[in-house]
Amino acid sequence: MKRPVYLDYNATTPIDPEVAKEMIPYIESIYGNPSSSYSIGRSNKEAIEKARAQIAELINCDPDEIYFTSCATESNNMAIKGIAWANRHKGRHIITSAIEHPAVTEVCKFLSLQGFEITYISVDQFGMLDPKQIKKAIRPDTILISIMHANNEVGTIQPISEIGAIARHNNIVFHTDASQSVGKIETDVNKLKVDLLTIAGHKLYAPKGIGALYIRKGTKIENLMHGANQEKGIRPGTENVIHTVGLGKACEVALRDFKQNQHNMLVSRDRLLNGLVSQLGNRVHVNGNLKNCLPNTLSVAFENISAHALASFISNDILISTGSACHSGETTISSVLQAMNLDFRTATATVRISTGKHTSEEEIDFAIEVLVNAINKLSL
Ligand code: PLP
Repeated sequence: MKRPVYLDYNATTPIDPEVAKEMIPYIESIYGNPSSSYSIGRSNKEAIEKARAQIAELINCDPDEIYFTSCATESNNMAIKGIAWANRHKGRHIITSAIEHPAVTEVCKFLSLQGFEITYISVDQFGMLDPKQIKKAIRPDTILISIMHANNEVGTIQPISEIGAIARHNNIVFHTDASQSVGKIETDVNKLKVDLLTIAGHKLYAPKGIGALYIRKGTKIENLMHGANQEKGIRPGTENVIHTVGLGKACEVALRDFKQNQHNMLVSRDRLLNGLVSQLGNRVHVNGNLKNCLPNTLSVAFENISAHALASFISNDILISTGSACHSGETTISSVLQAMNLDFRTATATVRISTGKHTSEEEIDFAIEVLVNAINKLSL
């Protein structure tokens, strides 16, 4: 077993060896520009189109509805600004939630400085929003709804298809940030009834620096960047072929191994929780509702513990993240935990533990032992 044991798969994942293998020829020898008409150019173009088809298969869309970007942040910017700008003559009202990643909220804040109005839908103590609140927030000038599929900190899965039905009924474009859900739970764009969906490569065993945006055919969108004609001119710039090939392969592997991976993540997450509860009892407080949660995510607070002290105390043994940030001695709790109305004490005692597709029983049992020992020591 490799130490420290990595249990922060929602932050990022390692590159899958099958993905790395697929990328190597494009690193070592097939270097042509995809826009060139000679053979190493054409091979690169074909590699991009193969990747597009692999992604499309995973989320059940047409390959030409997939656009490659550099990351989920770019996909979210492209979706939200692109739809806002393309529809500003129709209206300037956008609906989002109170628990989005900064890659959505900061875009909304930027748009609010440009005359757009943003409504933030609140969530309950489990991080769940009520679609009825969305229905209520819709106005004649609402042009976009952007709600994340699954939350990165607590794992809560939103009722996206219900919201999609509401958006469709009211003729409003609907975007979801699926950075955390692709590869972990089903992300069929038709079942979800979304018009745009964000994909983050490095959350599903592809490299960092690649993302994608699904844009349903017929959706009017303005460019963020202007240049040549790559990605149908919507996202110009010479393509990152190496990473694109990686993302395509990662999606193929994610689809092929979907059930097995989901099962492994769930079993390891639950083994961890059961182990902690059996040794620490009611000193363990789970944030969110595990019945409606990503299979790999556990947001948990330990009574009378500083999450920062804990994470740093165990960092030679296991790697996890915290639900609060500590800058110059001041602790601020995450906007997600705030939106869930968690009290300060619980929020600053919260850690996020996220398992991966290959997390083993041995790693989990070791993590339980390390956590329990550390908590017993730190709460003395
Ligand atoms: N959206 C969600 C839900 C995320 O969890 C993340 C990363 O943690 C992002 C967007 C941003 O991803 P990236 O930094 O790869 O652009």
